[in-house]
Amino acid sequence: MTDTDYMNLALIEAKKALKLKEIPIGAILVYQNSIIASAHNLCESLPDATAHAEILAIKKAAKTLHNWRLTGSTLYVTIEPCPMCAGAIINSRISRVVYGSANAQYGTTNALYPIKSFSKWDTGITIISGIEEIKCRELMNCFFNETR
Ligand SMILES: [Zn+2]
Repeated sequence: MTDTDYMNLALIEAKKALKLKEIPIGAILVYQNSIIASAHNLCESLPDATAHAEILAIKKAAKTLHNWRLTGSTLYVTIEPCPMCAGAIINSRISRVVYGSANAQYGTTNALYPIKSFSKWDTGITIISGIEEIKCRELMNCFFNETR
């Protein structure tokens, strides 16, 4: 499975959110070539402001591994993580983040500020962007054009 393959699975999760009239963001966590969690945004359904796809995936993954330390895992998420999720990514020791499209709401350069700027934490997190970018962005455009 390539990064693109996993991102397409994250896109399937994002489409589940869209069906629920949630902001269409999906996430997949992969550890040692297996999917340990998949989730989509559920803020409206739960309702819970912290129920972002990434947070839900991190919680599920910790249950799957019986370990909150997700060292060595890769998080695939359709949209660039927000600052809250960036904090959760750091705290859960995720090693690699692959996202599709930039986060328009928080700005392209600022959303990952906690990861990119706190060099003293030496997070060592690898960040890859632009995987299936157009598909990820179009899903968001589809949501915001129809519902807002
Ligand atoms: Zn978030």
